[in-house]
Amino acid sequence: MPETIRKDLAAHLQRLDVEGMPSEWFATKQSTERTASLPEETRPVTLAPQSDSAELEAPADLGFPPSEMSALTYDELREMALGCRRCRLCEGRNMVVFGDGKIVRPLIVFVGEGPGAEEDKRGLPFVGRAGELFTGAITKGMGLRREDVYICNVVKCRPPENRTPLPDEAAACTPYLYRQLELLRPRVIITLGQPAQLAICGIDKGITKVRGQWHEFHGIKVMPTLHPAYLLRNPAAKKDFWSDLQMVMDELGLKRPPA
Ligand code: SF4
Repeated sequence: MPETIRKDLAAHLQRLDVEGMPSEWFATKQSTERTASLPEETRPVTLAPQSDSAELEAPADLGFPPSEMSALTYDELREMALGCRRCRLCEGRNMVVFGDGKIVRPLIVFVGEGPGAEEDKRGLPFVGRAGELFTGAITKGMGLRREDVYICNVVKCRPPENRTPLPDEAAACTPYLYRQLELLRPRVIITLGQPAQLAICGIDKGITKVRGQWHEFHGIKVMPTLHPAYLLRNPAAKKDFWSDLQMVMDELGLKRPPA
């Protein structure tokens, strides 16, 4: 791209930043260029077939207490979740939303709260309105693809009226989440919103007090941040969200977009 056009574009995007809209989420060309400049080990790779568990390495011992799920492979765990009736959320669900993305050592696992209406219809996490914003942050902001990371929720079935999962529902479902994390062994976990922060970090405080600081979960670094649905209601908070994602990018050696 010619330098003059690049400068004009940068100035324009900077103006968007001032309005609280991280410009990088809209810079599609720049995102492509940045992806090409990623370190070898962090470049997007082809998604592994979800059914080929034989390719998975043996899971590390992350120190979880043994459970009925401890010996299950990814596919077996998913199969179990698809027929699960461990809590009342099974009654109103259309589909179980187990998780989606790279299942062999993803750089990042994002953990949200629970499926919404669109997710429940399609069986995929973060595909509604908040999901569009979320996907833009991953692809146009971080320079990754959805299939380079893994995305799941604390509860795999939609809570009625999109309410927050109740403590007993989260408790019933988190063994699936913990086994997922044990099998996936991501470099970093990003929790989205308070219920995910509680499930992973065990911190029962407002997300705005906890976000932006590193925590640890069984040896895996954790960055709590805001839920994309919150950002739709509070666009000014996108700056905090973006700042947290950039901390993760630094940790993973991903190149930040030019200021
Ligand atoms: S939310 Fe989790 S524990 Fe409850 S029925 Fe669905 S898969 Fe089972």
